[in-house]
Amino acid sequence: MRFNEDAELDVSQVEDLRGSGGGVGGRVAIGGGGLGIVGLVLYFLFSQFGGVDLPAAPSFGLDQVERGGRVDNARLAEECRTGADANAKQDCALVAVINSIQGYWKQQFAGSGRTYQAVPTNFFRGGVNTRCGSATSDVGPFYCPADSEVYIDLGFFTELRQKFGAQGGTFTQAYVLAHEYGHHVQNLLGTSRQVRGNATGPTSGSVRLELQADCYAGAWANHATTTPTSSGKPLITQVTQQDINGALDAAGRIGDDFIQSQLGGRRVDPSQFSHGSSQQRQKWFTTGLRTGDPGSCDTFRTNDLG
Ligand SMILES: [Zn+2]
Repeated sequence: MRFNEDAELDVSQVEDLRGSGGGVGGRVAIGGGGLGIVGLVLYFLFSQFGGVDLPAAPSFGLDQVERGGRVDNARLAEECRTGADANAKQDCALVAVINSIQGYWKQQFAGSGRTYQAVPTNFFRGGVNTRCGSATSDVGPFYCPADSEVYIDLGFFTELRQKFGAQGGTFTQAYVLAHEYGHHVQNLLGTSRQVRGNATGPTSGSVRLELQADCYAGAWANHATTTPTSSGKPLITQVTQQDINGALDAAGRIGDDFIQSQLGGRRVDPSQFSHGSSQQRQKWFTTGLRTGDPGSCDTFRTNDLG
C-alpha cells in the first residue's frame, strides 16, 4: 500500500490521547482495568451497539482513572503533513487511511443526497473514557455510538500479529479502521438502532451488523485508490493483491470460530457468535471489495450469510 507523496493529510480527523500528563474532564486515558458491575453494564451497551470488536474479556471500570492524557495533536501535526510522511511513518499512514475512508463515505453519502458527518479516531494507550463508558485496550478497537467516535490503542496491531498470528501490514490496519467507520455509517443510517438487545447467534442482529461493517470496509477498499480527499487527489496510489490477502488473513483471525477454537481452546459454539465466522467475515469483506457498492452489503435481508 502506497500513498501519494504530494497529497496533504488532515490530522484533525485523529485525536491523539497518547501524551502523558494528567487530564481532567473530557476524554482522558485511564489506567489498568478491573471488571465490576459498571463494567458489565458498559459491556452490555457496547455489545448492544456492536461496538466492541473483539470478544476478549472486557475490563472496564470507572474507578480506574489513573493516567490521563488530553487530546494533543501537536506531534502528529508536525510529523504528518503529506503522503510522503504516510509512506515513511506508521502513525501518518493511519491518518491518511482515516482521511481516505471518510473521503469515500462523504462522496458516497453525497451521491444519495445525504450528508456524511466526519468523526475522529482517538489514538489512546492503555485505557480511555468515552461517552459509552471507560474501556481498556483489552476490548480492542471500537466505535462508540454515544459520541460517534472511533477508539483504538495502536498496540492492538501488535497483538493482531503476535497473539492472533496475522500477517499485519498497513492495509490490514486500514481494514480494521474501515470496519469501525462502517459502524459509524450504520449509526448515521440508523441501521444500528434497528438491532435491539445483544443476543448472539449465527444469524443474530449483532452478527449481521458486524458482517455489514466488514462489507463496508471492502466497499471502501474497492475505491481506495480513486477516492479524492480534501486535497483533491486520491491519497492512496496503490493497493496490491498482497495487501488484500493480508486483510483477508486478518478477517479470518478475528472470526468467532477462530477465536473460540484457536485462541480460546474451546469448542466452536455458534450460539455465542457475535461477529460471524472467519469464512463469513472474509466473504462479506470480499463482497464489498468486489462490487464496490455498499448497497451489496445488505446482510439484514439475506438468509445466506455465508
Ligand atoms: Zn465491529
